[in-house]
This record gives sequence, structure tokens and C-alpha cells, in this order.
Amino acid sequence: MQRHANYIGGQWCAPVANSYYQTHNPASPAEVLGEYPRSSIHDAEAALKDAADARLGWSETPVPQRSAIIQQFAQLLAQSKDELARIVTLEQGKALCESTGEVLRAATEATFAAGEGMRLSGHTFPSERAGLTCFTVLEPLGVVAAITPWNFPVVSAVRKIAPALACGNTVVFKPASLTPWSAVYVTRLFEKASLPAGVLNLVVGPGIAVGERLVSDPRVRGISFTGSTDVGMHIYERAASHMAKVQLELGGKNPAVVFECDDLDGAAQEIVSAAFLCSGQRCTALSRVIVEDSQADTLAQRLVARIKKIRVGNGLDPQTTMGPLVSKQQMETVISYVRKGHEAGATLLAGGTALVKAPETEGYFFAPALFDHVPANSPLALEEIFGPVLPIIRVRDANEAIQVANGTRYGLAAAVFTKNMHFIHEFVRRVESGMVHVNHGTASQAHIPFGGVKDSGQGSYSIGPTVKDAFTNLKTVYVRW
Ligand code: NDP
Repeated sequence: MQRHANYIGGQWCAPVANSYYQTHNPASPAEVLGEYPRSSIHDAEAALKDAADARLGWSETPVPQRSAIIQQFAQLLAQSKDELARIVTLEQGKALCESTGEVLRAATEATFAAGEGMRLSGHTFPSERAGLTCFTVLEPLGVVAAITPWNFPVVSAVRKIAPALACGNTVVFKPASLTPWSAVYVTRLFEKASLPAGVLNLVVGPGIAVGERLVSDPRVRGISFTGSTDVGMHIYERAASHMAKVQLELGGKNPAVVFECDDLDGAAQEIVSAAFLCSGQRCTALSRVIVEDSQADTLAQRLVARIKKIRVGNGLDPQTTMGPLVSKQQMETVISYVRKGHEAGATLLAGGTALVKAPETEGYFFAPALFDHVPANSPLALEEIFGPVLPIIRVRDANEAIQVANGTRYGLAAAVFTKNMHFIHEFVRRVESGMVHVNHGTASQAHIPFGGVKDSGQGSYSIGPTVKDAFTNLKTVYVRW
């Protein structure tokens, strides 16, 4: 079993307190994958110091040089897809094909970020007064804290680190405690790409200690966080105390509205794929089906047929299309929502149980669940489950469908399946959501802004050109010649 280290100031180093914890394979939880630093605020402090010291040198490094390093990283990432995908599957659980897709997607996003680094342009303005030239420039924020969740351990990290570096910032990276192996691997690739010492620092350890220290430090001028809404709100408060810029990507309860749809089979295919990828542990997973009464029975049958084709198993098995849940805690949460579904009087149409007798030794395998007749005001319909449990909520008409779609605290992604052009426009206009998909599941792309509204997010969207807003300050300049 390998013991891993933090990466601070260009050195791989043991945590100050010399304390470690073990990670486990969710497909066979007795299997220990590695030992990782249980870092403390002292390690976070060291990383912050080195990131602050490296700030000037990196921000003054010519932009083509910065972009070339990120481009080199992107190439190394793509070349490492087989090895890294295996690591993602081992520590996170998802099917190997999904892990490979995640690594390649991260490489594409890094390539795009490297290009954005070359496009840090401002504007020039005509002056009110003679003899003045007026223009704006984009400048790095300084030190950025990148804090990531466990569900997409590679792409979440790269989505923050690559654009932050491209914009001239230095970074302290704190990955989720469940998936540090991917984080160590990604950091090694940046090292291999010759990123100067101190520009990227990795500190593995508990959010409550390391994360808390990072987001509370006034040297941190930008915080990019992906995770739960509750922690995101707490970080927003911390950031406000020293006016740090935030990019918060939080939870979702993403509706799939089905209304006057002439291809229910196609809709079912898109919904099942978007609902159960990554075992439903995806912020943009479709997690509610809202369907008009007249189409509900047929749609439910089609969904059941599709769900029955899902093969749950060890992600390394090529036959597997859905891996285990990531942890015991996640399994318990999902089971608790199945119970709440029954308590609310909903009808279980598929799955909803553990697939092994002793998940703690045999793996957190769970049969993907579909509930019908779910009351629109019940926990299953309103709360983020973050697992493979899909509720169907029946509605009378188009207006009620949109009201139910907007009836949660979240506003991340939404999908509508319909042939009715008027309803498409109505839905796109009225739905409270950062991203909308028409006759399409909630799959995003590597160059298009990504984010949410309401309790699903705050700050500039990630991916695409909006990263420049997230990771730079605007400076306005008036020059008298
Ligand atoms: P958490 O919010 O629990 O954790 C996210 C990260 O924050 C982890 O690295 C965690 O560290 C760290 N953290 C925890 N507490 C603090 C703190 N007080 N200060 C600073 N950092 C802290 O979420 P999960 O990891 O459980 O991820 C699941 C959630 O993420 C879901 O709600 C999901 O919707 C959301 N998500 C949103 C996405 C989006 O793009 N909108 C994408 C993916 C997930 P540690 O692991 O050590 O606890």
C-alpha cells in the first residue's frame, strides 16, 4: 500500500503532524487503496505562503508560456487516460468507460482553458476629454483556493485549476477526502508539465480543517468550490468576510418535464442515461420526472424497461454500466430516501434495494430505483438525493409542470421533452435554471458555460469564456499622454 504526500512549494512533503488516513474501494470496501495526509491548518498555512510567494512570478510569466504549460498538461492527461481512469474507478466506483470519458473531457477543458489564457483581452474606449486614452485590462486575482467534490475527482479539479492558472493565479488545491488519489495524479501531471514551484499546491485533508483555513484566509482572493449547497453557503459567508471572489457550483434537483412528447422512447432513453450516470451522484443528474397525466403510464413503462437494462457491478468489469455508490454514508442516504418514498405513498416501480447482503464488505451496490405517483411536496420530489432514485411526479397541464419544475430551492439544469414549439419557448423562458436542455438529457460540453441559479450556485459560471470573469479582476485605466 502506497503512502502519498502533499505537494507544497514544488516539494512532495509529509503533513506537519505526520498523520494519515486510508481510502477504500467502494466496490470492495475492505480493500485499502492508499494512505493520504490528514493535513491540518499548518499544512494549509504552508501552502498558502508558497502560493502567495509564487504569485508575482507566475502572473508576470508571459501568457504564451503559461498557456504552453497548461497545453502540455492537457496532452499528458489525455495520454494518461487508461491509468488515471482506472484510479478514478477504483476510488470513486464509476464504470471504467465513464472514468475514461471524464479524463478525456478534463483534457479538452484544459486545452480550452489554455486558449482562454491567450484571450485575456480588455476594451478601449473613446474619451470624454481630449488627450486621454481609456482602456480596461484583466488581471489575476492572486491566490485561488480550489475545493472539489468526490463525484468527478478529475474534471472538477481540472475545471478549476487550469483556468485559474491560465489567468495568472496561483492555486491551493484541496480535493475531497474520499478521492485524493486522482488529485495526487493530476498534480503530478502539472509537475511533469514543468509548472514552476509554488504555482500549484496540493493539500489533502478534512474540509473542516484544511478547507476552512483556506476559505478564511485574506490572502485567498478567489475561491472556486464545487460541493453541497450547505457547505457552499458557509464558504460564501467566509469569503464575504475578506471580500474574496467566489465561484460556487452546488447541488441540484434537475427536472425532466415531459409534455406532448411524440417520442417517449427517446425521452426515456435520455432521462435514464442522465439520471443514472455516475450512479446518480452527479449535480446535473436528472432527478425528477414531471409528466402530464395522459403520457405518464406509457413513459413509466418505457423508463422501467430502460432501467432494467442497467448492469450494476464493479466499475472495472467491462459489462458494468453502473458502479457502486461511493461510500457507506451515501448508501445510507439513498436507502433513507427510498423509505421516505414509501412513507409518502409513492409506488416503487423498479429497484430500490441494496444488491448484496453485506455492502460494507461486498460493495455499495444498489439497484437503480424508480418511484411513480410521488407527491410534489414530498422529500423525494424536493430534496437532492445524489443517488440512483428517480421520482415521477404527475401533473395536469403545462402550467403546473413549470410550477412544479420551479418549486425547489435549486436551479442548476433542466430538460424538457416535447414536440410543442410554443411550450419549448414557454419552458425556456420561465424555468428557473442555469442550463436548459430541449429534447436532450443534461449533458454539458467542454467549452460552454456551466452553472446554476438560486441555491445551485453563485459567481461566474465555469467552463467556456466565463472563466475569465471568475479568475480575473477588471482594471480600468485612464492615461493622459
Ligand atoms: P461537500 O460539500 O461535503 O464537500 C465538497 C468539498 O468541500 C470537499 O472537498 C470537502 O472536504 C470540502 N469541505 C467540506 N466542509 C468544508 C468547509 N467547512 N470549508 C471548506 N471546504 C469544505 O460535498 P460532497 O463532496 O459530498 O459532494 C456532493 C455535493 O456536491 C452534492 O450536493 C452535489 O450536488 C454537489 N456537486 C455540485 C456540482 C456542480 O457543478 N454544481 C458538481 C458536483 C457535485 P471533505 O471531503 O474533506 O469533507
